[in-house]
Amino acid sequence: MIFNFTRKVYLDNNATTLISSAVTKAMNKVLKTHFGNPSSHHTLGYKAANLIAQARSIIASSIQANHKNIFFTSSASEANNQVIHSIVSDFEARQQTLKIITSPIEHMSIIATLKALEKRGVIVEYLTIDHHGHIDIEAAKQQIDAETGLVCCMLANNEIGSIQNIQALAKIAEQQGAFILSDCVQALGKIDINVNQLNIDYATFSAHKVHGPKGIGAIYVKDGAPLTRLIQGGDQESGFRAGTESVHNIVGFGQACKAIPYLLKQSSITLSLKEKLKQEVIKFNKNVTFNAEQSETLSNTLSMRIPSVDKHSLMAFLDYYDTSISSDSACCSTNHSASHVLKAIGLTDKQANETVRISLSAQTKMKDIQYLVKKLSHFFAAYNHNITLLGPNSIDYNFLNDDNNYILDIRGKYERLLMKSIPNSHEHHFLNYQEVVNTLNKEANLILICTSGMKSMLFAYQLSHSGFQNIKVLTGGLMAWKKAHAKLYHDLAGTNVIKIDE
Ligand code: PLP
Repeated sequence: MIFNFTRKVYLDNNATTLISSAVTKAMNKVLKTHFGNPSSHHTLGYKAANLIAQARSIIASSIQANHKNIFFTSSASEANNQVIHSIVSDFEARQQTLKIITSPIEHMSIIATLKALEKRGVIVEYLTIDHHGHIDIEAAKQQIDAETGLVCCMLANNEIGSIQNIQALAKIAEQQGAFILSDCVQALGKIDINVNQLNIDYATFSAHKVHGPKGIGAIYVKDGAPLTRLIQGGDQESGFRAGTESVHNIVGFGQACKAIPYLLKQSSITLSLKEKLKQEVIKFNKNVTFNAEQSETLSNTLSMRIPSVDKHSLMAFLDYYDTSISSDSACCSTNHSASHVLKAIGLTDKQANETVRISLSAQTKMKDIQYLVKKLSHFFAAYNHNITLLGPNSIDYNFLNDDNNYILDIRGKYERLLMKSIPNSHEHHFLNYQEVVNTLNKEANLILICTSGMKSMLFAYQLSHSGFQNIKVLTGGLMAWKKAHAKLYHDLAGTNVIKIDE
C-alpha cells in the first residue's frame, strides 16, 4: 500500500473547502472562452469586465452591500493587510499616533501585521476574551476610547468557532470615532451577514472557504472609510489594487456566493451532525472536552480536547484511514508553538497540544460522522501502542552514537535541500514506503525524522500497520532538533548520511 490521497472523509473545511462543480464549470468557461483582459477595449475585454461586474454584484448582495463597495484582492490575508495599512496611511497623513484594538484570537494576517506595525510606532492593545472565546463587551467599552483609530474583531473564529457580538462592538467603535474591521472569512455561508446591520466599516472574505477557488478574496468598504492601495501599478479595482484581475477566480467566487442561501439553509443539518459527533465521542471517552461549545459557536466547527492524547498522533492515525481533520489554523501548522487562539481562551501548551479541530461542511453526511466515530473509538482502544514520541533534546551525542538506533529521514528530495539531516541518518523518501517495509527488520529501533514531525507521524502509522514494533517519532522534526542542538547541528548536520533511495 502507498499513501492514499483520496479522502474518504474530509472534515477540515475551515482550512479550505472542496470547489463545487458549478464553480469549476463557470471557471473553466472563463479560462477557455472569456480570456480577454478586462481592461482591453475590444469585445473580449468588455466581456471579461462584465463578468467581473456580475460577480461583484453577486458577492455584494450576499452580504447586503452595494457592488461599488466591494474590492477584490488575492486573498483574505491581503484584504486584512490592505484595510489595516489604509488606516495607518490615513493616520500618517494626519501625523496622528494610531491606536489599534484587536481581539487576541484574530487570524495571523491581522495579528502578524499588527505586530510588525508596533515596531513602527502603532499602539496595539488586545481585547479581553472569556474561556469560550467571546469578547467581554463591558471591558471593551472601557478600552476603546477616543484615541482608538481601528478596532479589529472577526465575526467567527476559525479554530474554535466562537461568534462575536460585532454589532455591540461596532456601536462602541462608532461612539469613539474609530473604524471597525471584521474578518468575516469563516462566517460567510454559515451566518447570514448583513454589513449594514452589523454597522461595520470593513469586512473581509475568502472564496476558498465557501467552495470557491483559492487565491481570491474581497473587502467590503463602507462609504467614507479610507482605502489605500497596497499594490502600485495600474488602475484596476477603481485604482485600489493594481494587477490584471484574476477573472476566472473572480467568476468562481461569484458563482460560489450564489450558493450562500443554500449553505445557510444547510447549517441546521450541519449542527445536528456536530451534536451527534459530540454525543458519540463522549460515550467512549468521558474525558473529552469541547472548547467554546457552551456559547454561540459556528454550526460546523468543533474544537475537541482529548486529555493525554497528542493531536499529531490522532491526526496521523485518522489520515491513515483517509480522514482529514486538523489541529489549528492551517497557515500556522508548521509553527510548533501552541495555537494563540487556544492559549487566549486559557488552555495550557499541553492542553492545546491535545486539541484537534473538526470542521464540517454542507457536504458532510451522517455516514462521514459515523465513520469518524468508529475510527476514533479504534484510536482510543489502541492509542500509540507501538509509537513513541521523542523530544528533540533526546537526540544527543550519545543517542547518535548508539548503533541500535536506525534514524530514518523520510523527507522529500527538495525538503532535504533546505535543511541538512541529523548525522548518521538514512534517507528514505516517504513515498518509497514499500521499500522500507521490504528491507528493514520489523524489530528495528526506528527513529523517524522529517521537517516538522508531521509526515513522520503519518509514516509511523503506516509502519505500525505493517508490523513494525519499535517506532519513535521526532516531535517537531528537524526544525525542533536544530533549535535544541544548535552546536551539534552546526558541527555535524549532514555528515555520514546514508542515501538509500536516490
Ligand atoms: N481569516 C480567517 C478567519 C481565516 O480562517 C483565513 C484562512 O484560513 C484567512 C483570514 C485567510 O484567508 P486566505 O487563505 O484567503 O488568505
